[in-house]
Amino acid sequence: MTYTVTLIPGDGIGPEVVSAAVRVLQATGIGFEWETVQAGLVALGKEGMPLPPNVLESVRRNRVALKGPTGTPVAGGHRSVNVEMRKTLDLYANVRPVHTMPGVKSRYEDVDIVVIRENTEDLYSGLEHVVVPGVVESLKIITEKASTRIAKYAFDYARKNGRKRVTAVHKANIMKLSDGLFLDCCRKVAEEHKGVVVYDEMIVDNTCMQLVLDPTRFDMLLLENLYGDIVSDLCAGLVGGLGLAAGANVGVEQAIFEAVHGTAPDIAGKNAANPIAMILSGAMMLDHLGEQAAGRRVRDAVDKVLAEGRKLTRDLGGTASTSEIAEAIVEKL
Ligand code: ATP
Repeated sequence: MTYTVTLIPGDGIGPEVVSAAVRVLQATGIGFEWETVQAGLVALGKEGMPLPPNVLESVRRNRVALKGPTGTPVAGGHRSVNVEMRKTLDLYANVRPVHTMPGVKSRYEDVDIVVIRENTEDLYSGLEHVVVPGVVESLKIITEKASTRIAKYAFDYARKNGRKRVTAVHKANIMKLSDGLFLDCCRKVAEEHKGVVVYDEMIVDNTCMQLVLDPTRFDMLLLENLYGDIVSDLCAGLVGGLGLAAGANVGVEQAIFEAVHGTAPDIAGKNAANPIAMILSGAMMLDHLGEQAAGRRVRDAVDKVLAEGRKLTRDLGGTASTSEIAEAIVEKL
């Protein structure tokens, strides 16, 4: 069986880490046909738009994509390609697992957290306007439909993956209506899973402090879009940084697999980026395709390379290049 997968190399370190991930995925022996399309700043330069229609068509057709990071200008310029893709394809669940990796120096041991982030609304709706000069309004949209859907996703994920606890993270003491609605929806869904999955709630600022004090007390975190973005970077930092944090954007029809990190312009083009986050996103893609055994083999190979500690990229204190890491993981496979 050959899987046709949309491949979006992206910007900055994207092409380097994506080609490393492709090398590793090919080495599993599973048949892939890669349909390469361009999105982000590369597409903007070549085609005059950051998200040309053929990209969405390709993902719709193939239903699965592996994507590198795409650049978004700060304060002005085009809207984020990620936000556009997630909204247009309704990829409502952002899944970001973080866990302690063998041999990787970090401040904590035994961290194992799955962050489930709502991916389609909240302050990412992009509804901002100038009320009068000097006053800007930015609308936070929270709906019952999207909140219930992401809560269901989180609890189903917990059951399928043997997770014991889901913690809904919020600021409903201040945003009583919007975060209040989010919590109401989470509570209703939690009720259906009573006795199997424990449910609790925590205010977002306290969650950040508790994560830094003792991340091992958490199992799964369920968050709205913006809190989810911020807290998942924090969680990545707990286990060794963005170079290791994988992710998936999952909808009803399609799924896009991409690392948590951005384009990292400071190290782009130097063959210095850590490709492991992208490779582990590829392993999540294998699981999604029903190739769990191959996914496990990729994760084991990554663990072996990290545990040996001979080949590490600079972010993990080593001197190895992106391609050397890919090579080492392929050897283990
Ligand atoms: P975005 O807004 O797109 O999330 P960002 O500005 O938050 O991007 P990143 O591009 O993720 O930031 O980079 C943050 C820091 O982490 C940078 O110093 C970058 O070099 C480092 N970094 C990110 N990804 C990697 C990686 N794969 N390997 C090594 N370092 C990385």
